[in-house]
Amino acid sequence: MDTIRPCWVAGRPVTGTETLPVYHPFDGAPVGVAAVPDTADVERAVAAAQAATAETAALPAYRRADALRAAAAGLRRRADEIAALITAESGKPLRWSRIEVTRAAGVLDWAAEEARRWSGELQRLDTDPGGVGRIAMTRRVPRGPVLGIAPFNFPLNLVVHKLAPALAVGAPIIVKPAPATPLTALLLGELLAEACLPEGSWSVLPVPDDRMPELVADPRLPVVSFTGSVPVGWRIRDAVPRKHVTLELGGNAAVIVCPDWSSEADLACAARRIAAFATYQAGQSCIAVQRVLVHRDLRERFTELLVAAVRALTLGDPADERTEVGPLINEPAARRVEDWITEAVAAGGRLLTGGARDGATLTPAIVADVPPGERLVAEEVFGPVLTVADFDEIDGAFAAVNESRFGLQAGVFTHDLRTAFRASEVLDMGGVVIGDVPSYRADQVSYGGVKDSGIGREGVRAAMDDLTQDRVLILSGL
Ligand code: NAD
Repeated sequence: MDTIRPCWVAGRPVTGTETLPVYHPFDGAPVGVAAVPDTADVERAVAAAQAATAETAALPAYRRADALRAAAAGLRRRADEIAALITAESGKPLRWSRIEVTRAAGVLDWAAEEARRWSGELQRLDTDPGGVGRIAMTRRVPRGPVLGIAPFNFPLNLVVHKLAPALAVGAPIIVKPAPATPLTALLLGELLAEACLPEGSWSVLPVPDDRMPELVADPRLPVVSFTGSVPVGWRIRDAVPRKHVTLELGGNAAVIVCPDWSSEADLACAARRIAAFATYQAGQSCIAVQRVLVHRDLRERFTELLVAAVRALTLGDPADERTEVGPLINEPAARRVEDWITEAVAAGGRLLTGGARDGATLTPAIVADVPPGERLVAEEVFGPVLTVADFDEIDGAFAAVNESRFGLQAGVFTHDLRTAFRASEVLDMGGVVIGDVPSYRADQVSYGGVKDSGIGREGVRAAMDDLTQDRVLILSGL
């Protein structure tokens, strides 16, 4: 087995006594070993974050920007190695791991640019007689040290989405990667260690889940930024109601194929995009397409194209450059999805293709006419499964999308501007994507959910807003 990858306590490598072995989801081969911090390590990291608060906030903008750019450059320099590691620990097809590295480097660059712009606002006060001779200056100051908790499905980019905005605004941060995928985050620590950041301003700690409630409750970390599953997220918020908690949680993203999206080219394009983005990480993305609503007149033609597009996907070893669909994170996850398909079919759904399981790998499935309330449509499937239903009137489709208890993003294939505007007015979502799948995300754009999907926003600039609060200075006697 590999040597142990150290965790990072206040910017320094620590190889503790406890370790966490990591296995490849595709074939169970050992990938590496992560050092697990003991309680004394965690205490040192938290105390250091608190002690570094003033120094991190006072770090000149050019130095924050330089550090973030250096980390981005490091990612690009080691892109092949990092992409291979993402694939090995998460089972993500290599082509998608490469994209993840590129995106993460982009997030760091965006954060560097925003750090340079991060200023505040001047407001005139002579709008009232009592304000003559005064002016207000509002700055955004960090709410305090951040605990950033990340999921397994983007082991690099979602860790970077925690780190980069915090460091850009000058907030110390402790990042907690997912237990299945800690190694990429620990490698990122090597790059941060070279980036000349204040000691104590960052730590990467793969703390075991059973010790997380204590860390979440620690009053020295007033901000908790969590990306992960719905139950864990809302439990955290309930546990620490006085903290500033941001939740980026799950969904069961829907896409609508409107009656005007009807040429052969339109339908083929929608089928290809939907097939790709229902399955691209074996469906393990919070905005993977799960529910397809197609206009009744197009249903037959479109479904045929969709089945063909799903069957044409290349399954297999995620390390193979040709692979489009790899394994789920582990076999129990694949078994759960398989069970949900079986349940939906027993309730009257029609399996049009897929659903065969081999270890953690599941052939992408399409199930039509799943009765409402079945887990396959009502819950987050987080697997390579599409459900298909039809609609007559667009408002019926919007209502069906909104029936979900989740609200991250929705996609609408239409050329009609009125439908596009109406969709963005009516759909109760964090975002609506017109002319494409709901799975499109640009990292610099505000991103997040409503309803059970979460609270607060990420996307570099939005996260910087979220991690900070106004502080007003009023100058009088001018
Ligand atoms: P998870 O909730 O099981 O774990 C997420 C993180 O929380 C992990 O680091 C885990 O170790 C940690 N954790 C577990 N118990 C904890 C506790 N009691 N206190 C604090 N932390 C705890 O989620 P997962 O399976 O890793 O990720 C999949 C989920 O993440 C899906 O629901 C997916 O939709 C969601 N997700 C959301 C977004 C988004 O931006 N909205 C992005 C990616 C993934």
